[in-house]
Parts: sequence; C-alpha cells; structure tokens
Amino acid sequence: MPLPIVPLDAIPSAGLEVPLGPWARAATEQAFGAENVTGHLHVVRHGVHLVVRGQIALTIQVPCDRCTAQIPLTLQPVVSCVYSPMDAVPERGEDDGADGPALPEGVEAVVDASEYDGVALNLADVVVESLQVEIPPRWLCADAHGDDPGADAACSERFRALSSAVAGKPGDLSPFATLAGWKPAVS
Ligand SMILES: [Zn+2]
Repeated sequence: MPLPIVPLDAIPSAGLEVPLGPWARAATEQAFGAENVTGHLHVVRHGVHLVVRGQIALTIQVPCDRCTAQIPLTLQPVVSCVYSPMDAVPERGEDDGADGPALPEGVEAVVDASEYDGVALNLADVVVESLQVEIPPRWLCADAHGDDPGADAACSERFRALSSAVAGKPGDLSPFATLAGWKPAVS
C-alpha cells in the first residue's frame, strides 16, 4: 500500500501501524518548512469509520511575536481522531454544544471527529492538521528559551532596537505625520 493514502478496505482487522516516513517529512516540509517530523500513527477501522491514534513531534522555526527573531517551536500533538465518511457522519444532538462532526456510536476514547471521503484517508493531511492546531497564538523568546533567564531581556532589547529603527527611519512617515501641524479649531 503506497503511503500516505490508506484505503479503508486495505486496513487489517488488527489495525495498521504507520511510521512517519519520507511521505510525512515531505508533507511537513511543504506545510511548515521543516522535515524533522517523528512519531507514528495507528489506524483502526470501525465499520466505515477510521480511528487514528498516535504521537507526532516536529520542531519548526517561527518569528518571535515581539522581537521577530527566529526561535524554535516544538509541536507534539497527541492524535486521537475518528474519520467518518461524509455521508455517514452521525447527527449531533440539538444541544450537545460541540462543533464539527459527531463521534459515531461504539467508537470510544477518541478526542476529535472529522470527515473523509469514505474510500481512502490521506495520512499526510492527518499529520499536517494535527500539527497546525498545536501552534500557539503567541510565541515569544522567553517561551522558546525557558531555561535561559536572559532570553526575555535580550528579546526586549531587540524589540526596542526594532521600534526605534522603525520610528527613526528617514522618509518613513507614520500614518499620523500629516496631522503633525494640526490643531483643533477653537470655537
Ligand atoms: Zn523575542
């Protein structure tokens, strides 16, 4: 079976253990610019539903939210998701309060639910989506270098240098420059 496309009817009853090989490195290189992905996935079928569990790790380089220096961010999602065919996604109860597809009955101990075409699941998508949701909204030098007590001060220093460079750049007028000579009319 050529990975990462896993056809439903090719999955043995004991499930399929899938190491994250060259296909996963290619997928993360394309999505995140890093191919150091490690981990494994285990795919089990429950009727037409596919349950994917596993552990993934990838370290990417991202700009610090404050000083824009490139800093490492390690993503380590635990994968626990059931994929249902689009036409077989169970109806949600009216007030269960959750978003997205519902969990099929009889498939327990999974965290997320999603859809696939009912024929084959692309594990490259599973890997990339699992990593994407782990990216924090804000990531700073102090987060990336938690064991370095000087990281935060150095980050502040770079931020100040960055701010004054922007403010002092000749010809780079602020959006409010035209208001510099403006005074409120006295009535
Ligand atoms: Zn920083």
